[in-house]
Amino acid sequence: MLECVDPRTGRVVGAVPVDGPEDVARAVARAREASVAWAATGPKERAAHLVRIRDRILDDAEAIVATICAATGKQPAEAVTTEVTAVCETIGYYADHAARWLRDQPVHPGTMVHKRAWKRYEPVGVVGVISPWNYPFTLAMTPLVTALAAGNAVVLKPSEVTPAVGESIRGLFSGDEWPELVQVVQGGGPTGEALVRSGVDKIAFTGSGRTGRRVMAAAADTLTPVLLELGGKDPMIVCADADLDRAVRGAVWGSMQNSGQTCMSVERVYVDESVADEFVRRVVDEVGRIRQDDTGTGDIGSMTFGPQVDTVERHLADAVAKGARVLTGGRRVDRPGTWFEPTVLVDVDHGMEIMVEETFGPVLPIMVTRSVDEAVDLANDSRYGLNSSVWSADEAAATRIAERLESGNVCINDCIVSYAVTGLPFGGVKESGLGRVHGPEGLREFTNVKSILATRWRTPREPWWFPVPERLADLGIRAARLRYGSTWRHRLGR
Ligand code: NAD
Repeated sequence: MLECVDPRTGRVVGAVPVDGPEDVARAVARAREASVAWAATGPKERAAHLVRIRDRILDDAEAIVATICAATGKQPAEAVTTEVTAVCETIGYYADHAARWLRDQPVHPGTMVHKRAWKRYEPVGVVGVISPWNYPFTLAMTPLVTALAAGNAVVLKPSEVTPAVGESIRGLFSGDEWPELVQVVQGGGPTGEALVRSGVDKIAFTGSGRTGRRVMAAAADTLTPVLLELGGKDPMIVCADADLDRAVRGAVWGSMQNSGQTCMSVERVYVDESVADEFVRRVVDEVGRIRQDDTGTGDIGSMTFGPQVDTVERHLADAVAKGARVLTGGRRVDRPGTWFEPTVLVDVDHGMEIMVEETFGPVLPIMVTRSVDEAVDLANDSRYGLNSSVWSADEAAATRIAERLESGNVCINDCIVSYAVTGLPFGGVKESGLGRVHGPEGLREFTNVKSILATRWRTPREPWWFPVPERLADLGIRAARLRYGSTWRHRLGR
């Protein structure tokens, strides 16, 4: 059995059975059967079904939020905005736009003027979704509803840390007119690996780089395509001319919301030396005002996963041993459950784990830089490239900095929220992942593009068919010169 632990208290509040490889195989078979009829429906019918699911989410919103909070320790306001609302937005986005992006697209036939060519986006079949614990609703539902919108069935393996949210998702899809279309299998790594090896047509994985590598390696055996949404170490660059009020609040929110357990959390700040002292002083004040509690009306709650607190402590200890100074926080909160104080530290550098490894906790390390170039070099000095942010009063200058950052996404004078714009494809470069969710690109991740070529003028034969005409080589060279020559001399072969 998988225990459901409430991280706010450390108490076990439930349990769900674990699915083994045979359960996974059965779930995939059921999904495959359902996928045939689902793929045959048009985007309009799929959109209508997704909208019904969204209505069900809205009907059950309070219960879903309560389940998310009990599983993760986050505050209801966080669960409402970043999970329930985010999922409703994604459903609406694909319900509105999927038909257009899945429509057949004509392609110019080039020299084959007597042909007609077009692209067709077909569902891949069954998509295996493997999701993490930090946004257990959003990060399961986003690939899930996108795969459905593209015409696929789904087998979801939610995180073993938050299985109760997986059960909520099961409840949303069971008992409707497509009861087998979405299957949920519960368990940890072995269940996930069984899903990867089950013969599904695509894996959409969100989680750590360590597990992402294992997923990709296992998928290689069957050449199953993978979409990988992995970790980050997102930099924030604060320029000399930044609106400090906004930058301070942004830095604190971006590093502490969801207790820092966001793949796009602000994990490191590079602030220009001319404003650094003022910035640090105000950040510490702002962090002191954070309401961290389990009343349900605070700013942040507990962390979610015990071993993540160990990582936070390890990174802090390493930084302090190498000369970093903790200005506020730095310890577990003395109470049952998984609580860690909002923490700010300075005098950090890239020789410390806290500046190069994903910390994934309520921790903000701040480094002083002497120029924009230095800040960009430091921001890019990372294995990761998920999101990043630039803060400046000059949007044109900030945009030029954004263009230099090795990052899948960049926010200017904000952080994290680019994910909330569902039209923007989201994903990482470097070790932050492969592929994209959101936008047309995210929808087409769950399709196979089929290229079709039809013959418009049906003559008895094509010029290059057998028997090959004797003069074809000679005529071919002349035709190539005429078509591709960049000057008349080349075109006429003189
Ligand atoms: P994790 O890698 O430990 O687990 C993710 C999922 O993989 C879980 O469901 C787990 O059971 C499953 N799994 C474990 N071993 C497996 C295996 N061998 N084969 C298949 N599946 C397996 O990640 P986590 O701790 O749950 O989540 C936190 C990580 O996720 C952080 O690194 C965070 O940055 C990342 N993340 C990335 C994004 C993004 O969109 N890029 C979003 C959220 C979280």
